[in-house]
Amino acid sequence: MNLEELWGLTLNEMEIQLSRASFATWLKQSRLVDRKDGTFFVALPNHFAKEWVENKYHKNILGAVRNFDSSAKKIEFVVRAEAAKAAPERITAEALEKFENRIDLSYQVDPQSNLNSRYTLDTFVVGPSNEMVYAAATAIVEEIGTKYNPFFVYGGVGLGKTHLIQAIGNAIRERHHGKLRPLYVSSERFTSDVVWALRNKRIEDIKKKYRNCDVLIVDDIQFIGGKEKTMEEFFHTFNALYENNKQIIISSDRPPQSLATLEDRLRSRFEGGLIADIGYPEYEMRLAIVRGKLQERRHELSDEIVDLIARRAKKNIRELEGIMNKIIFCEEMKKGPLDRAEVEDVINKSLKNFSQPVTDYQILKAVADFYSVNPEDLARRNRKKEVVEPRQVAMYLLRDILEMSYPYIGKKMGRDHTTAIHAIEKISQEINKNTSLTQKINLIKDLIYKA
Ligand code: ADP
Ligand code: MG
Repeated sequence: MNLEELWGLTLNEMEIQLSRASFATWLKQSRLVDRKDGTFFVALPNHFAKEWVENKYHKNILGAVRNFDSSAKKIEFVVRAEAAKAAPERITAEALEKFENRIDLSYQVDPQSNLNSRYTLDTFVVGPSNEMVYAAATAIVEEIGTKYNPFFVYGGVGLGKTHLIQAIGNAIRERHHGKLRPLYVSSERFTSDVVWALRNKRIEDIKKKYRNCDVLIVDDIQFIGGKEKTMEEFFHTFNALYENNKQIIISSDRPPQSLATLEDRLRSRFEGGLIADIGYPEYEMRLAIVRGKLQERRHELSDEIVDLIARRAKKNIRELEGIMNKIIFCEEMKKGPLDRAEVEDVINKSLKNFSQPVTDYQILKAVADFYSVNPEDLARRNRKKEVVEPRQVAMYLLRDILEMSYPYIGKKMGRDHTTAIHAIEKISQEINKNTSLTQKINLIKDLIYKA
């Protein structure tokens, strides 16, 4: 009897002994991979399954095998990942949510200031995409209310706005031992407070609450656009605080001039201070963020896996973190490290959940739209000056976002691969020196990812 037949019979036997769920969970993906001197080697897809089966079913399996091959003396369990990628499959949204809540529970929200202890300047990784907002943040902690007031930070989803502005509040609280009172509020919360106060004729309560702080931090201000009463109340709050040299910090998903439904008088208040943007993190920064979060979570991943995560999760830091959490969660379930294929599997599934994959057409279209040029001109052999930069940026993004090969990019753009290499290297170097180019690329990525 060959191994496969023998194992087939054994499994039939086990199927009778076990409940259907147990059998499906633990044994369906097992295989008999070898037999030597009376020792039979059974492969299971992961460490978790191995441990479980070893502890629970060792005797039954040995007994069943002996029915068909009396030379069997011993069963050894081994892990063969290719047996199946079972662990990632088993994560349900609910289980993952529980896991993530457990992480959240290890932090505290201070009831007076609404600040969450997880957001600190120490854990905020700094790189080219956010060094300006970081510098401003540290300056504000040193000179509250006078230097950069208001401080307006904007950027796409999941790029660190909330982290940064809460971290400023936490740093101030720490430094002044509670003598200065920061107050963090989302603009939705501010809105609902105003609505409540109007309905209950308690507008004085609102005034007291929001004018009694030393630092007012308002997150996602874009949501108050179009809400007349809320904007009005916010305008008065703003003025009252500002006149008293209290610090005001605001975040938004776009710059003040693009907040279409915001009153002009509010917009010009915002423009009176410092406006800075947070951009998309580049590879080194993503790498540093993964390492930092692993330390926070007290979990280890191999360099290879860390690199893989940082290379694949580019869209924003929230996505990066979500993927890491899933991998950590799977490893905890499995009680052992995932192999590369399993990690790839988790990443692919997560990216699918987060968004449709970006296509090369989307990239070219976004670049063309941004520069107001014809998309065909990007790939046409002409030397028009106005398409030189767009074309180079397009090649850079094809590489950065889609990791296309140089020859492929060259072909796509009607050039050879050396031209592609040259263009991509040029843009990569420029980005480190030229902030206006970095901003352009950020805006183009906004177009691509929000499409
Ligand atoms: P936003 O408010 O811009 O949508 P968040 O501040 O909520 O984004 O950031 C999303 C996640 O990414 C948070 O968990 C945050 O801690 C993390 N994060 C963002 N920027 C950084 C950074 N520079 N260093 C470390 N973690 C970051
Ligand atoms: Mg936020």
